[in-house]
Amino acid sequence: MLTIEGLRVSYGAITAVRDVSLSVGEGELVALLGPNGAGKTSTIAAVSGLVPAQAGRILFNGEDVTRVQAEDRIRRGLTVTPEGRRVFANLTVGENLRLGAAIRRDPRGVADDLERFLELFPVLRERYAQPAGTLSGGEQQMLAISRSLMSRPKMLLLDEPSLGLAPQIVARIFDFIGGLKREGLTLLVVEQNAEQALRFADRAYVMSSGTLRYSGPPGDLLDDHGLLKLYIGG
Ligand code: ATP
Repeated sequence: MLTIEGLRVSYGAITAVRDVSLSVGEGELVALLGPNGAGKTSTIAAVSGLVPAQAGRILFNGEDVTRVQAEDRIRRGLTVTPEGRRVFANLTVGENLRLGAAIRRDPRGVADDLERFLELFPVLRERYAQPAGTLSGGEQQMLAISRSLMSRPKMLLLDEPSLGLAPQIVARIFDFIGGLKREGLTLLVVEQNAEQALRFADRAYVMSSGTLRYSGPPGDLLDDHGLLKLYIGG
């Protein structure tokens, strides 16, 4: 579904991603792991169109989207939930959810999806008319992911969904992500919390200093403590 070939991302003189190639098949959950500053966020920012690719190609469902505008990638079904639970703190929970569906033209379907997330996360219904900034960290992450899903993506890129959350909340978030995979959503999940991500992933890639260092089944990473230590510091 997603193929990245020879991707390079630079910020001025700093090259954050060099010659990265990876793929995610339809229905797969793939983990992209690596230490701070490895280039994971820059990789998915290039896939979602938030930063330009200086070299390489990004193919989504066989179509070259390397030069396609970010919003048009969402229209094609490629959506990102950025790092840091970026909800619009001053907008209400309901407004945040509706914004996620801004590109859709099927009000019935939007209303159904909205109901589904309010059912799934009762706190979002309770706080529907309150500013999203009043939610706890875990609740904001649920809202951020739900908002992304309101666009009805075919593939979701999730950047560090567990960042800064308490362990029980992290477990809930990953259970939710596992449920999305069972429903058939294709996912690329960036994580520093390697163990959680590897429990759910079909395959994993490890990046460090802007390049890919490993690709393969998650079991090999969990078994091989040396590799985990080397690249994830865990
Ligand atoms: P983290 O987990 O900390 O987000 P990461 O693996 O996602 O790490 P990136 O955020 O992609 O890594 O950063 C890769 C490199 O690019 C780092 O050296 C970082 O300092 C640099 N970088 C990222 N964004 C910018 C930017 N907007 N301007 C300049 N340098 C940047």
